[in-house]
Amino acid sequence: MVILYSALVMGALGLGFGLFLAFSNEKFKVEVDPRIEQITKVLPGINCGACGYPGCEGYASAIVKKGDAIDKCLPGKKMGVIERIKEILEQNK
Ligand code: SF4
Repeated sequence: MVILYSALVMGALGLGFGLFLAFSNEKFKVEVDPRIEQITKVLPGINCGACGYPGCEGYASAIVKKGDAIDKCLPGKKMGVIERIKEILEQNK
């Protein structure tokens, strides 16, 4: 009988915590602009800092949120990154 009660209590606790996590996930969800992820994917991913930001994701975020210039990635210039960033920004206007 002790095993049955223990299983029921543990099951109820698991269900309760699961529901709490599901609620928290929806309530505190942070909306992220999908363009940041798209631009991060086309950047070289070297995280060298030549653009003036600590990494490629920081630069992508600055382009989208602050309207920073799209030609600051020196390693990406020869790879056609500027044109691809332009396409992403124009597609999602
Ligand atoms: S210069 Fe280019 S590769 Fe270097 S951190 Fe900035 S976005 Fe990334």
